[in-house]
Amino acid sequence: MSESNGAATLEIRDLHASTAGRDILTGVDLTVRQGEVHALMGPNGSGKSTLAGVIMGRPGYEVTRGDVLLNGESVLGLIADERARRGLFLAFQYPVEVPGVSVVNFLRSAYNSLKNPTGDEDKKISALAFRKILKEKMAMVGVEDDMVRRYVNQGFSGGEKKRMETLQLAVLDPQIAILDETDSGLDIDALKAVATGINQLSGPGLGLLVITHYQRILNYVTPEHVHVLMGGRVVKSGGAELAKELEEKGYEGLRSELGITAETDEAEAERVET
Ligand code: ADP
Ligand code: MG
Repeated sequence: MSESNGAATLEIRDLHASTAGRDILTGVDLTVRQGEVHALMGPNGSGKSTLAGVIMGRPGYEVTRGDVLLNGESVLGLIADERARRGLFLAFQYPVEVPGVSVVNFLRSAYNSLKNPTGDEDKKISALAFRKILKEKMAMVGVEDDMVRRYVNQGFSGGEKKRMETLQLAVLDPQIAILDETDSGLDIDALKAVATGINQLSGPGLGLLVITHYQRILNYVTPEHVHVLMGGRVVKSGGAELAKELEEKGYEGLRSELGITAETDEAEAERVET
């Protein structure tokens, strides 16, 4: 599954994509290796979720140019499940409710379909064996027992949903994970809890792309690489200091530094907002 040097690599090359007849991504280049933590920042409407969706094969996007490679092989022709089996994970911005299915069972079935795609009965993990794995992961990301007995996302607060995503990430143990707006709508305690979970999981086995509008989660999760997406392409990359710089000058400040005019309605709205 990995390249000969051992580290899995996600490579986004000159990616152009459109949705509903509109060009959204206009040439994204980005490489994330196992063991690295990257942050992708950008104003509302800049294409962050579109990028995450295209990488994971969410329906509704058309790739018009460029490629997404995992360990040198294009994943664009693969369905989302197959991408997950190859080691990609995407936490969704708006997790859905799954009534009638407890978190434990949801996670066990996700685990089984990932590790045992052919559904061989004799290869299925037993409830007991899974429980053991789950316990360990729960301790790691700080999820309590009563939470995993509840139905998936039903009545979960924003913070609980995010904690669930982190638990899902821990259980599925991917090589590369994309976390879209992991901080949106979280109060500071929930934000810290989620960040702590992410920090517990980050390490040589995991490459992380943390997508965020705001700088604040980056006070707790320190990325080695920060990229800014504007108008559907990466306009600037740097180290952790780039996030601080953005906090100080705002997206508008970066726009004027780079001589970019706010082209989209969203960017214009943002300009007025800030
Ligand atoms: P971000 O996550 O950075 O806020 P998105 O990727 O969600 O940005 O959106 C980028 C642009 O694409 C926005 O202008 C948005 O309105 C548009 N867009 C996204 N999804 C759709 C869709 N399904 N249909 C039409 N337009 C869309
Ligand atoms: Mg988004």
